[in-house]
Amino acid sequence: MITDRYIPDLLSFLDSSPTASWAVTRLASKLDENGFTRLEEGNSWNIAANVRFYIVRSGSSIIAGVTGTETFGTAGCRIIGAHTDSPGFRIKPEADRKKENINVLGVELYGSPILATWFDRDLSLAGTLAIREGNTVSRRSFMIRKPIFRMASPAIHLEREINKKGFKVNPETNTPLLFSSSGAAFDDVLSLACKSADVEKDSVSGWSMEIWDPQPATLGGIEDDFIFSGRLDNLAMCHTGIEALLASEECANTRLVSLFNSEEAGSRTLNGAGSAFLDTIIERLAGGRDEYFRCLSRSIQISADGAHALHPNYSEKHDPGCHPVLNGGPVIKVNAMEKYTSNDITSAYFRTCADKSGVDIQYFVNRNDIPCGSTIGPVTSARMGIRSVDVGNPLLSMHSVRETAGKSDHEAMIKVMTEHLRGSVSISS
Ligand code: ZN
Repeated sequence: MITDRYIPDLLSFLDSSPTASWAVTRLASKLDENGFTRLEEGNSWNIAANVRFYIVRSGSSIIAGVTGTETFGTAGCRIIGAHTDSPGFRIKPEADRKKENINVLGVELYGSPILATWFDRDLSLAGTLAIREGNTVSRRSFMIRKPIFRMASPAIHLEREINKKGFKVNPETNTPLLFSSSGAAFDDVLSLACKSADVEKDSVSGWSMEIWDPQPATLGGIEDDFIFSGRLDNLAMCHTGIEALLASEECANTRLVSLFNSEEAGSRTLNGAGSAFLDTIIERLAGGRDEYFRCLSRSIQISADGAHALHPNYSEKHDPGCHPVLNGGPVIKVNAMEKYTSNDITSAYFRTCADKSGVDIQYFVNRNDIPCGSTIGPVTSARMGIRSVDVGNPLLSMHSVRETAGKSDHEAMIKVMTEHLRGSVSISS
């Protein structure tokens, strides 16, 4: 039976995770509360069976896991992958652009946000400050909720055709953030960030500043069966992965949840899915090269990312047969050009996990005249040689500043992922 038990925690996680770094901070403290030990990549490890651990790389990617009772080469790993970042905007260096009597700040695109959705929202700022203490630099996170920024749309009287022709946005000239009519400049924004992080401004030698919409996540719809929030893609799947890990019990295989930054920028970063983060963690845990390769051949990954739900007002954009709907259950994503890792056998694997946990599933395939996106699954699966299936919960308005998901799909996905992690279903080689 599907309940609401995970929803309050999900909403709170969404509200307190404006950036990938904050998401990882929140998840790490939840793991701490549940008896997980933080390992450092620079230290030696000697990990026995049934050990709960996690590793953070660059503050914004995290791999959490519990070692199995059998060796890595014998039982392999059951892995869940997702991404911690979301599309949006970042403050440019030298961002001050005074226009008439209004000060605005220049922003840089991150990933592919739906630009128009960011207009006329109460926007704020979160990110990290790089602090210098003596000859050492380190990071400190900050989060501001006060609505200090605005991307203002033109009035309809200035764009008479806006509803007929669509709201077209030039990402350079139309997006600078309005923030002062009294002469304030970027330096004042930096002061606010320093105050929020409780650091001396003189010690700040660098920063990363992301724009976010602090409107709280909420349930919606007349029966509260929708979730309205920013960053559902892909914080919702980060949350399901960690909850499944916490719900899973002792078993032969090792259970891993790998949550990467940089997916929206192509994954080729120090701690993206294109890095060797997951590879090196598994090899070090396995304790030897041969054991590592045997482990990979016995491992199975669920790559979880948002899936497009059927939009009732844009149904012509969807395949005529596959109509995944909000609250219809987790979606297996299929693509003949293999932008997704799902195939006959791994789809059957996920479906069997769903059957065993009493969860209905749906399928997504794109129209041939509308190309689909991709995600982390193909990146890790191809490089490491791990069998994988791409899935996700149905979502409307993917990459909008405010997306819509179905409430019951969340626990449904946690149930299937928990079944996966416990290793009760296998693929015969
Ligand atoms: Zn995504």
